[in-house]
Formats: sequence, C-alpha cells, structure tokens
Amino acid sequence: MEKKDTKPAVFLDRDGTILKPVPYLRDPSQTELIEGARESIMKLNETGFLTVLISNQSGIGRGYFSFRELFLVSSKMEDLLHPARLDGIFYDPSAPAHLSGFRKPERGMIDSACALLGIDLSRSWIIGDDYSDLMLSVKTDIRFILVMTGYGKDVLSQSNVPKKGYLTAKDISEAVRKVLNA
Ligand SMILES: [Mg+2]
Repeated sequence: MEKKDTKPAVFLDRDGTILKPVPYLRDPSQTELIEGARESIMKLNETGFLTVLISNQSGIGRGYFSFRELFLVSSKMEDLLHPARLDGIFYDPSAPAHLSGFRKPERGMIDSACALLGIDLSRSWIIGDDYSDLMLSVKTDIRFILVMTGYGKDVLSQSNVPKKGYLTAKDISEAVRKVLNA
C-alpha cells in the first residue's frame, strides 16, 4: 500500500491503560474504564488517528477463562467507550510459554493491524502501562508513552528498564494530549 493511503494509529493497551486493572479480568461487571479513557479515544477519533487495541490475554492460554468470557468483557468495554470508537481490537490468548509471535512484546498484532487497516507506523504511537508495551515499542521503533496507571510506576522502578527513548504520562488523558501536541 502506498504511504499516502495510510493513517497514523495509536496502539492502546487494555488493562491498566483503558480499563482499571483487574488481574485476569473475566467478569463484565468488574469491567470499568479508567477516568478519561472515553474522552481521550474520542479525541483520537476526531483527529484522524486510528485507534487500535492490542492486548495480551494469557488467561485464556492458562485456562483461567474462555474466549466467550473475553468477548463479553470486550463488548462491555466497547459499550462503556461509546461513542468513542476502537478501529481495531486484537487479543493474543497465548500463555507466555507458547511463542505465538503475537503476544507482546512480539509484533504480530501490530503487523496484523497494518495489513488490515493501512497504518503509517512512522507517525504512530503505542500507549501502555507494562514492560511488554515498552519492549514492543523498542522492537518496532514506534514512539511510546508509559502511563502511570496499572503497572507503570512499577516498570519505572525496575533497574533493567530503559529510562530514555520514550515519554511518560499520568494516565491515558495526559498521554493523548502529548500525542496530539507532538
Ligand atoms: Mg496493561
């Protein structure tokens, strides 16, 4: 695809970035948005960014919950986000020991999104709270913002984590402001 036909995207992590962190979330009634998530995604919708959710869901591979439970949580999230829109939703269900090539920090979900949606990675961003999101950005050379919701603070306190080459933000609202002001 020609570059002129492609759009920039913001790749968004789910748990701890859009949704309040609940370990191995499987219950729609525990599915809650982080404050400002809806408004932030609406701003991206209005300013020409594709919004693409990329989320590891190893709870399926580990046998903790089913695809149906994942689907119900995901539907609840989309209902809560409405009228904000996610242009793509990608989940990798594999357990860490299964090298799927899709589980973050591997780039499979990003490559699938590019093939389906037409994305200019050079103008794109990743927003997430976890080490795997940061390492995905290193592997793909996509700009990254680490949010302090979810695991963000823990990631920063680890000695083996790169301290440069990315931005930090209090939450998704501040991260999206940084994207739009860049
Ligand atoms: Mg997360």
